[in-house]
Amino acid sequence: MRWSFKFARVAGIDLRVHITFFLIVILGAGQFARFGTPGMLFGAAMILLLFLCVTLHELGHALVAQRFHVEVKEIILLPIGGVAMLSRIPRKPSQELFIAIAGPLVNVVIAAAIILGIGVNTSLGRMNLNDLVTTAHAGPSTFLAMKYLLDANVALVLFNLIPAFPLDGGRILRALLAMRLPYARATQVAAGIGQTAAILLGMWGLMGGGILVIVVAVFIFFAAGAENMEGQTRTVLASHRVGEAYNRHALTLSPNDRIDRVIHYILNSYQPDFAVMDGHDILGVVTREDVIRSLAQHAGDVPVTQVMHPAVVRVHADQTLDQVRQSMSEQSSRLAAVYEGDRYLGLVSAEDIAEAFALLKFFDNTSADGSVEGKEIVV
Ligand SMILES: [Zn+2]
Repeated sequence: MRWSFKFARVAGIDLRVHITFFLIVILGAGQFARFGTPGMLFGAAMILLLFLCVTLHELGHALVAQRFHVEVKEIILLPIGGVAMLSRIPRKPSQELFIAIAGPLVNVVIAAAIILGIGVNTSLGRMNLNDLVTTAHAGPSTFLAMKYLLDANVALVLFNLIPAFPLDGGRILRALLAMRLPYARATQVAAGIGQTAAILLGMWGLMGGGILVIVVAVFIFFAAGAENMEGQTRTVLASHRVGEAYNRHALTLSPNDRIDRVIHYILNSYQPDFAVMDGHDILGVVTREDVIRSLAQHAGDVPVTQVMHPAVVRVHADQTLDQVRQSMSEQSSRLAAVYEGDRYLGLVSAEDIAEAFALLKFFDNTSADGSVEGKEIVV
């Protein structure tokens, strides 16, 4: 993410903080400005401790995800909270459940530890429970710090357990539903509940909960819709193999062909991409863009081998369309060469996959197992 920098690395995961985060530290310091410099340092320290709790929450998600062999790219701290970037969310409901629950559980443990600390201090006579009520208007103190962090951790648990994507509660709900229902259906039901929760939250915001509540409600409402769409797309694409989707009757080129043949093909077929074949081996790919670029550069007719580029993404016919889509996006390519063992079968493009999806979603209600690669944000 832009404007963020790395401040630590834990278990191979980069911890990054967004530059705007420092505004919140300054705001925190300002809250206690009436107590002078010690007050401002206290306020800043409280925000830093709060974000330590948020970081531990994200690490809870991340470390459990790693146990399920999910790659965790990074954790980013933003003024609104933290996000863990996971390479995928396991399709196994129990694994998604453990990953989702681990974050709030960290805050439950921290809150319990603070309650224990308050209990010990009270029983030793170093602290009076009445202090906790009155400290709200008092200056910086250990008591106030404990109360502040206790409230913050309880709030983190309650907020994250709202059953709406992308909050942890939404994932927990989907995972529980997916134990009984097909994945796509579970996502649909969870998204519906999430949107209802968002509407209720928004109504509360309008009735006096405040502008921030309204903003969060709107965010949750659209995030739930997006998660539902993505869930449906993945389910459809994950249940079909690329071996069914590549173009079997594609026109191909030979190394001796020249660009005028490609132009002829483009004008007389709807095919935009052509494999240059040497016997059964693919040497490279010539796309419509390659032809246009070539025409712009050389006026003349050149061999196709001069304008072709290598087909970098190599996929197996058994791979699902969703895996292929992911490989393409990882390597920023809109084309993949499909193989069966060492045998080249044909090309598949991002447009082919989009077209396949458009057709399949009407005929498909199957559920797929196995996790699917993607970029997932866990808050
Ligand atoms: Zn979380």
